[in-house]
This record gives sequence, C-alpha cells and structure tokens, in this order.
Amino acid sequence: MKAEGIAIIVSMAALGVAAWAAKYNKVSARAAEQASIESRRSADAAAQVAAVEHEREHDRLRPTLADLTTTFFRGFGDEGMTYLLMRFTAPRSYRITAEAAGGGERWALELPEVARAGETLTIVVEQPFDPGPVHAREIDIMFSPPRPADGGEPWSCPCDRPAGAAHWRLMVTPPLRVDA
Ligand SMILES: [Zn+2]
Repeated sequence: MKAEGIAIIVSMAALGVAAWAAKYNKVSARAAEQASIESRRSADAAAQVAAVEHEREHDRLRPTLADLTTTFFRGFGDEGMTYLLMRFTAPRSYRITAEAAGGGERWALELPEVARAGETLTIVVEQPFDPGPVHAREIDIMFSPPRPADGGEPWSCPCDRPAGAAHWRLMVTPPLRVDA
C-alpha cells in the first residue's frame, strides 16, 4: 500500500515536470521565433542601410558638369578641314561613349573607350564647322566605372546597376554660337 502511494506521488511530480517543460518549451519557442523575427528585421534594416549607402556612393561617383569643365571651340585639321571641338577633363577614369543631337538628328561622337583621370580629351562634335550657330543642341555622355583591364586607378561603384550599361549620363549643352 505504501509503495502505491509513492508511485502516485512520483507520477504527480512527473506530470508537474511535464507541464512545466511544455510551458517552458512554448516560451522558449516563442522567444526563438521572436529572435528570428528580430534578426530578420535587423538583417533587412542592415540591407536597407547598405543600399542607401551604395546609392549615396553611386551619386558621389557621378561625374558632374563642374568636374568636366567642358569648353567648345573651333579647330582646324589638314586640308582646310574645320571642326567644332569639345574639350573636357575626367575627374577619375571612366569608360565613356557620347552622342550629340540637334535639328532632329543624332550622331555618335568618336571617343577613346576610357577617359583617364585628369586626362584632357578633345573630341569632334561637328565637321565641317564654320563660325556661327552650333548645330548640336545637346551632348549626351555615358559614363561607367572602368574595368580591371583598363588600367589606371582601380575603383568601382558598389551599387547594383549592371556593369555593361551606362552607369551615369551627363547632358552637356553646347553654346548657341561659336564665333572664333
Ligand atoms: Zn553605381
């Protein structure tokens, strides 16, 4: 009889432990879930902060009109050839392409593939060109970060824009006239 009583006490105690364990497990499962939500939230927040910083860096690396200090003037080639020339200096090495547009026409400008940091480039905008009105009303320059094989100072943009596409676009407005 005595042994039976002990067994009941033991099983009651075991029940108590089981109930406590179930409650504890539930609490810890909830805590784990909460922690995972919080860590996911903080990962999302970190990704957002990184994306904002990458965009800020992308904007910082954008070439500006003030960086390029473009000038337009008339140039002369062999055999009396005349040109409207644009001169500019890249603040850092970029891959570049450019097009000019005016009077319903659009034409590609000849440029080296890479404009190197501090290098002054002189490119032909119009040919022939006589003193007077400028035909081109805008010059659209597309810039991208250089590739490792391009040489020069290595740098890249941390944003997610594809490497092949134009990364930044800068519109230069030529003067209405060039008289000299
Ligand atoms: Zn970028």
